[in-house]
Amino acid sequence: MPDKTQLDQWDQQHAWHPFSQMQEYCDWPQLHVERGKGCWLWDTEGNRYLDTNASVWTNTFGHNDSELNAAITDQLEKVAHSTYLGLSHPKAAELGHRLCTAAPEGLERIFFSDNGSNAIEIALKLSYQYWQSKGRPERKRVIGMQGGYHGDTIGTMAAGNSGRFHERFSEWFLDSWHFPVPTCHELNGEVLGADSSHSLEVLDTYLQKEAAHVACLVIEPSVQGAAGMQQQPPGFLKAIETLCRKYDIHLILDEVFVAFGRLGHRFVCQAEGVAPDFLCLAKGLSAGYIPLAATLIQKEIYQACLGKWSDNRTFFHGHTFTANPMGCAVALKNLEKLDALIACGELQKTIQTFGCALSEQLSDHPNIAHIRQRGLAAFVELCPSKGEPAWPTDARTGWQVCLAARKNGLILRPLGDALLIVPPLIISKDEINFLCQQLVKTLDEALS
Ligand SMILES: *Cc1c(COP(=O)(O)O)cnc(C)c1O
Repeated sequence: MPDKTQLDQWDQQHAWHPFSQMQEYCDWPQLHVERGKGCWLWDTEGNRYLDTNASVWTNTFGHNDSELNAAITDQLEKVAHSTYLGLSHPKAAELGHRLCTAAPEGLERIFFSDNGSNAIEIALKLSYQYWQSKGRPERKRVIGMQGGYHGDTIGTMAAGNSGRFHERFSEWFLDSWHFPVPTCHELNGEVLGADSSHSLEVLDTYLQKEAAHVACLVIEPSVQGAAGMQQQPPGFLKAIETLCRKYDIHLILDEVFVAFGRLGHRFVCQAEGVAPDFLCLAKGLSAGYIPLAATLIQKEIYQACLGKWSDNRTFFHGHTFTANPMGCAVALKNLEKLDALIACGELQKTIQTFGCALSEQLSDHPNIAHIRQRGLAAFVELCPSKGEPAWPTDARTGWQVCLAARKNGLILRPLGDALLIVPPLIISKDEINFLCQQLVKTLDEALS
């Protein structure tokens, strides 16, 4: 294998990393992950790190899990990939059956793709096509919630509202409008300041006037991940569903982040008694092993796309690696393991341990301004010590903390000057304690 110096050089010369200012990336020490086991990753130098962001929110049962590995290798020995365009395969058929049976009432169809942005883009296009086929082509606007993140393709950027991330492209966006977020602050099961009234009133007032031009509303239910784990009050999602039904617009739930145990449930909509028109899944769907996404679709929308070829109702959309058999195989095993983890109460216990540890071990730290946490998703806002000046943007303090944390055995990812902590579902009590202790040590070393 090429040594670290060689890898660094190739990476610096050729790689362009997502969401990275490459000028600073190339100045920072590089880390090449070589292998993983459970919640841990090892770099090419043999150093071990706790994967505190579940490899960007995808990993459910840890790295290198023998059962998930076996699901993939069993499929690999049969066939690695064959197209889903006009053909099927056993794992996709079974996964479609399992997901549609598990999902809320009426979500009878599954459209596979290979990433979260695509899962949302497919829902948006289908909603648009549906209204056209119903003779209501003026219904084409998309409603999103402020701070929403649904991906980086043109359609999903417009549906979302990620400020500086996407602003530059706004002239290319499709017609969209965003309503304000509710307020809510939860840590360790304690909910404070929950208030949906302003958010819902603004939305209702808008829909009274504009509903005839609206195709759909898309929202990340319960927690907006990329906005910094922005939480919604209990009952908020149900109220959104009620408004969508009242004004006859499609409800698209982006559960790309929150599903598959992240908040303690298989699907958030199920826990909240909500039946959307579209349910979008990716990230944890395939346990963080192989790219896979799915859009679950209400039967009425599917039926509106049926007809003779010449009726021109076909949904023209597809991706080359749609429904990859190894992805479907690992997703099936993931679903089976998740149901067991929830049924035995283990996941709920881990969530409690996590919330309790954050609250007890971190919330009093002088460099932590604020923590919110729901499920296994936490936002830790950092601040200068009392009396110290504010951090300049270009100091990149959030990133400096994450670089320093590597020396203490943590792989962390910042959001500005905050940290997002999203561990695998199987993180143990000892690992949670390690995370908190090493984070405190890092903050003490890097910020005081
Ligand atoms: C990550 C994410 C997406 C985009 O998924 P990709 O696979 O990165 O395209 C969409 N919505 C939410 C809520 C996400 O967290």
